[in-house]
Amino acid sequence: MRGLIALLAAVSLLVPVPALAAAEPRTGFEKTGKWTTEAEEQAYLRATGLPVSQIGVTAQGRPIQLVRVGTPSARTVVLFICSQHGDEPAGREACLIRMRSLPRSSSVTYLFVPNANPDGRVADTRGNSQGIDINRDHLLLRSAEGRAMAAVIRDWKPDVIHDLHEFGPSAPYYVKDFLWLWPRNLNVADGVHSLSETLSRSYIRPSVEAGGRTSGVYGIHVDPVTGEPIRQVAGDHQERILRNTSGLKHSTGLLVETNVDGTPAYRVESQLLGLDGTQAYVRERRAEIEAATAASRAVRSGPVYFGGADNQPPAPEDVLTTPPCGYVLTGAQYVEARDELALHGVKSQYLRGGDRIVPMKQEARPLIPLLLDGHADEPLLKARRVAQC
Ligand SMILES: [Zn+2]
Repeated sequence: MRGLIALLAAVSLLVPVPALAAAEPRTGFEKTGKWTTEAEEQAYLRATGLPVSQIGVTAQGRPIQLVRVGTPSARTVVLFICSQHGDEPAGREACLIRMRSLPRSSSVTYLFVPNANPDGRVADTRGNSQGIDINRDHLLLRSAEGRAMAAVIRDWKPDVIHDLHEFGPSAPYYVKDFLWLWPRNLNVADGVHSLSETLSRSYIRPSVEAGGRTSGVYGIHVDPVTGEPIRQVAGDHQERILRNTSGLKHSTGLLVETNVDGTPAYRVESQLLGLDGTQAYVRERRAEIEAATAASRAVRSGPVYFGGADNQPPAPEDVLTTPPCGYVLTGAQYVEARDELALHGVKSQYLRGGDRIVPMKQEARPLIPLLLDGHADEPLLKARRVAQC
């Protein structure tokens, strides 16, 4: 036995294998080729040694978790939202794999919601166990999952939000391996919008295409012969979709989608290439990203849009060139909506008589009319516009 130990010690001197690599944890998917189970995920997260916090509990009692890589006080924060749709598992696998190899003490904090829809993942359904599509719930916040993510965004103020999905192909028009899209909502500040498009076109695209994948803009059917766009089938301005909500909350970012026609390994590898793109973007553009998100947080004037998108002009009636100074809620309306307003980081003040005013001049400005104006697509409630505060 002693001889064997000596021999092993000698071999290890000859072949310097990093101790960490030998002990590196593996996901269920890496071990079995099958999607990582709930139990495997929990064991894996423990084995990484990364700090994991519980940010919510699903309707079926599963924890919604946040994993942090890097120092909590870093100036740049990057948030990965992994598989909000339970039947789109490749993003979750890529997140689990990537989190263990990111630098742990750096100027960037990487946050992962590694399983953004735990009940839906177990059941292999798009929505959660209540049938709520979490990626249509980032405004009204009816789901525990949507609320958990809103609190993370409010508390961490991410500079970048990368949202991982998968899509079913629609031959012959929608056949790429990998699709990407930035926030299209017109209320997103220019700097955040343009950097988000840069992230998609100049980082994600080259990264996945260098890996041998075909890629394109999400939501557009393309003519297979001419390559020309035919019509938009998804990817619009809707503020309740995380891709847009993120921009309205001052984060640069994007949604990515891998094609479920590929093998599981190909899809997970594609998602990892996408993560590479966002990491490169953060490395090279940190100063610009920080400036753009800070500028977005400081906006206190300008028009409000209830329709249109960056590729579709708004109807004249959907533009408020002179927005109200604020919105007044009755006491009863406030009681009904105060939890959601708090999760969105919307501040308000008491008025005499028990009403409440939400002034537009605050950091949450881009979101306020979309939450409180009767003209919005899906307001939380219809509050009263006031011209003077
Ligand atoms: Zn999806």
